[in-house]
Amino acid sequence: MVRVAINGRWVELHSDPSWQQVILEAFGRGLPRQRFPLCIAHLHLPPAAIDWSAEPQKRTIYLREPEQWQALLVERIGQLLASPATPLSYASSYQVLKAAEPPNRYRTLLSPNSNQLSFSKLKVVGQLHNTYIIVEQPEEIWLIEQHIAHERVLYEQIEADWQVVELDKPVLLESLTEAQVQRLQDWGLAIAPFGVQVWAVRSVPALLRDRPDIAAALMELSQVADLTAAKVAVACRSAIRNGTPLTLVEMQTLVDEWHRCRQPHTCPHGRPICLQLQESSLARFFRRHWVVGKSHGI
Ligand SMILES: [Zn+2]
Repeated sequence: MVRVAINGRWVELHSDPSWQQVILEAFGRGLPRQRFPLCIAHLHLPPAAIDWSAEPQKRTIYLREPEQWQALLVERIGQLLASPATPLSYASSYQVLKAAEPPNRYRTLLSPNSNQLSFSKLKVVGQLHNTYIIVEQPEEIWLIEQHIAHERVLYEQIEADWQVVELDKPVLLESLTEAQVQRLQDWGLAIAPFGVQVWAVRSVPALLRDRPDIAAALMELSQVADLTAAKVAVACRSAIRNGTPLTLVEMQTLVDEWHRCRQPHTCPHGRPICLQLQESSLARFFRRHWVVGKSHGI
């Protein structure tokens, strides 16, 4: 649900791209897959910003230079998503949801517990199935899936700094279409013909440089739709696989890096990274409120 209000009034706002599109894109790769934000954008605008002449009936509002207001809104949404510890906005958004729906009907990004993501120091206590990192918190137990946590860390690094490095020895690729060659160039890689139906790639994303599967990785990059998708693909391929045993120190480093991410909740494909088991639900599950005697550890 995306609604826009201007100066205290719900409006249909016309623009191309639409405000809905702009808002959803601002959430971008920080939203779980198949989840959609509830977003109420209230713009306080000077009257001169509105183009009153555009539609006589005033059913739809047109703004002068909508791009500048959209850019401002995108920036604001980015700030909100970057700070899980904005207690006021999170609490008030949660109240909106609670007012409209019974609790737990929708599990949302905005649950008040997500505030804790940015507070206490995370203490790694172990690994399960060489896949889940167990973190002990004062009131919670967290299970973090190692591959996607690392994928989020790497994705944010290459988002901020997409580095392409030269190779000592080029990687040869065969049977590329023109579109594939063009895409690799668009992602900033140096690629040139190297014989009949063969191309030499002389520079690659830094994370891929030493990978044994570099040719497969480049083929994948030649097929993705845009640079963002290319970054996601590089992050996914470079992230620690599930099934890899890790030391406590390695896990602690990873968890601390993940914890500092701008959007720690989901991997760039939209999967949730961390399962939070609350002490209060564990107490409920184990029926700790049952008075069965002093000997049961109560
Ligand atoms: Zn992945």
